[in-house]
Amino acid sequence: LPTEFKEAEPVLAQIEAAGFEAYFVGGCVRDTILGQPLHDIDIATSAYPSEIKAIFSRTVDTGIEHGTVMILDHGKGYETTTFRTESGYQDFRRPDEVTFVRSLAEDLQRRDFTINALALKRTGEVIDLFDGLHDLTNCLIRAVGNPDERFHEDALRMMRAVRFASQLDFEIDPETIQGITDNATLLSKIAVERIQVELEKLFMGTNPTRGLQVMLETNLFKYTPTLADQRTTLQDLVALDNWYLTSPVSALATLMFAGGYADETIPDLLKQWKLSNDCIKETRLVVQFLDALQKQQVTPELLFRMNAKRLQWAHEVAQVLNIEHDQATILRDYEELPIHDSHELAIKGGDLITTVGIKPGPQLGQIIRQLQVAVLTQKAKNQPIDLIALASKLKG
Ligand code: ATP
Ligand code: MG
Repeated sequence: LPTEFKEAEPVLAQIEAAGFEAYFVGGCVRDTILGQPLHDIDIATSAYPSEIKAIFSRTVDTGIEHGTVMILDHGKGYETTTFRTESGYQDFRRPDEVTFVRSLAEDLQRRDFTINALALKRTGEVIDLFDGLHDLTNCLIRAVGNPDERFHEDALRMMRAVRFASQLDFEIDPETIQGITDNATLLSKIAVERIQVELEKLFMGTNPTRGLQVMLETNLFKYTPTLADQRTTLQDLVALDNWYLTSPVSALATLMFAGGYADETIPDLLKQWKLSNDCIKETRLVVQFLDALQKQQVTPELLFRMNAKRLQWAHEVAQVLNIEHDQATILRDYEELPIHDSHELAIKGGDLITTVGIKPGPQLGQIIRQLQVAVLTQKAKNQPIDLIALASKLKG
């Protein structure tokens, strides 16, 4: 067992010593069997939240109404969720009722895919009630039980299916694909931001082509915020095979650039998906840079608006979309810019007011920007004397 499990083993042992069952469950079991690194450990238990809190002295109520309590142990936090069943789902996204149960089998049954419905005992024994191990070996994503019912209960699971197809580079079982085809319209019941998160993960996965292919053939794309009217873009993306995107910004920039959205339409579009202002700003800058890259019109002024991260993201997208560029030259040109931040300009607004006699207001800002461009394009040296002379000329 990986060290993360060994560290958490005493927690499971303690729950068992109090007379309850406890298992590692979900993504951490799947990823361990695949030999992939773990990001978080989830524990499922027959103990009710109040019982967990009685066993451990230090806990945090992270989602107690859903049965989740975080146990603090040796500086680590372990999310522990009581076995539960869900029922209702009248809105196609959330159960009307969550019921705590004492049986592991019932808990595993409510999970989305067989590869996510494995449980691991602290002894290393795997509990596999739905042939998840078989599907893991065969690289298959298959709904637990009847796919039609499962997607009807929670439509987000369809996006999770295509996201896992990309992340794990797995195929989706034909019946599960059929279930997505039959229920695709229900995705419109799901909040855009939750769909968006899955879409970003899809683009950041190992093989986005796989997930996108299924979105196309099942028409799921028609109900996603980014891709609804982008069938041809999607077909172009499916044909790509150089995928490597490491951030939501590069994922979004890929979509925006491939979709050919006009620069000024990007903020409103991304706002509809409830993305943060920072993320929107970064994406737009990266797309602007890509546009210049493709037209071979990268100017010092544009480079000046980049930074190391943005240049890396633009590079990733350019690689994926086969936009010809020489990253080494770009990085060198960036390094060699005379200034990398407006604070590095050798003269301040205050100096221009006192020495050159420019009045505070719009003209001041305009002249500062002109000085900046002059320095960036090497038309002026970044020295007070040169800048004061130029500012006097610009003032007229
Ligand atoms: P990741 O690597 O993204 O964390 P994960 O499989 O751990 O993948 P989580 O969203 O963390 O995914 O969920 C943990 C577990 O909870 C899943 O493995 C699955 O068993 C269950 N689960 C999560 N979301 C759903 C859902 N919408 N429907 C059914 N089961 C779900
Ligand atoms: Mg997880």
